[in-house]
Amino acid sequence: MAAITLSGLTKQFGTFTALKSLDLTIGDKEFVALLGPSGCGKSTTMNIIAGMETPTAGSVRFDDRDMTGVPMGERGVGFVFQNYAIFTHMTVFDNLAYGLKVRRLPQAEIDARVRQVAELLGLVPFLKQKSAGLSVNILQRLAIGRSAAINPQIFLLDEPLSNVDAAFRAVMRTELKHLQREFGQTMVYVTHDQLEAMTMADRIAVMDHGVLQQVGSPIEVYNNPINTFVARFLGAPSMNLVPGRLTGTGDAVVVELDGLGALPAPRVAATSADVLFGIRPEDVAIVPVDAPGALPMEVVFVERIGPRTILHLAAAGHQLKAVEGNGYPVSIGERLAIRPDPARVRLFDRASGLALS
Ligand code: ATP
Repeated sequence: MAAITLSGLTKQFGTFTALKSLDLTIGDKEFVALLGPSGCGKSTTMNIIAGMETPTAGSVRFDDRDMTGVPMGERGVGFVFQNYAIFTHMTVFDNLAYGLKVRRLPQAEIDARVRQVAELLGLVPFLKQKSAGLSVNILQRLAIGRSAAINPQIFLLDEPLSNVDAAFRAVMRTELKHLQREFGQTMVYVTHDQLEAMTMADRIAVMDHGVLQQVGSPIEVYNNPINTFVARFLGAPSMNLVPGRLTGTGDAVVVELDGLGALPAPRVAATSADVLFGIRPEDVAIVPVDAPGALPMEVVFVERIGPRTILHLAAAGHQLKAVEGNGYPVSIGERLAIRPDPARVRLFDRASGLALS
């Protein structure tokens, strides 16, 4: 068992607060991604779990054991950094075997473990090679393999794929998930790349300015962002947030988008009439300009990305994006209309940014 419980975790660097009272429980064998922009406190959180930093306040527990003051070497965690630390004078085999030799495992067991990790990470063809001549991609695979070989119950990875190329990153996303399932580890994965978090994690912890914003499964945080920060941070292109005012009561609630028109709104216990009308670009249908209940707009830019087209639309001072996947021919300057899917609309309080629906 290796559940991690972070309670009231706070870290001050001088007068700067990098982490503000973070509470997070990571279940045994769970894969949790810490996701957020640069400087939001992801690495600080990881370093505290690993024992490389001491929290100013709060505690770290592994299952029922308080680990807060336990030195790094006694925590039994595996750690992979952005910059791989490989012994370049050694072969790939010796790098993978290093931690096992330090632990004085029998040679037969070392051989078996190295083989297993090498097979999982596609390192078998390189086992006899000196690490010095290997590509960045293979070196990062090796760094992951070396930490994985000792089979830590808790495996911490801090942006392990940020230095490798895009194609290899896609391969590694699958391999890492496979590795975690095979070894049954509790994995904490730091990234600022939403695609990595969305594809690999069981749950995503979204952070901003040292504060945990939301924790949930990838689909939960994507579909039901708790505030406008999470709504904007997840999704590419990001969610449209259009200022408007709630009017009407009961089932007849609408949002008046200034100068654009009115759209049906989800029923909310609104504390304020001033809202942001949120709709993801893929939930906006393109309809004929005279379609009833649709909002007329002008196409100001067109981005064609393979099978998808991202339309940049404008009207009455509002900017919106719509993703079009049907090959509908559109050109700049064209007038069309949009109809957001009412079931996918999310409302946010304009002043606080908090979700109302
Ligand atoms: P990145 O992806 O850029 O590493 P991050 O989310 O991992 O970002 P952290 O490295 O945890 O962010 O840093 C959080 C904040 O704390 C940043 O503003 C950073 O400058 C600051 N910080 C981190 N370590 C120190 C330190 N040793 N001394 C002073 N400030 C620090």
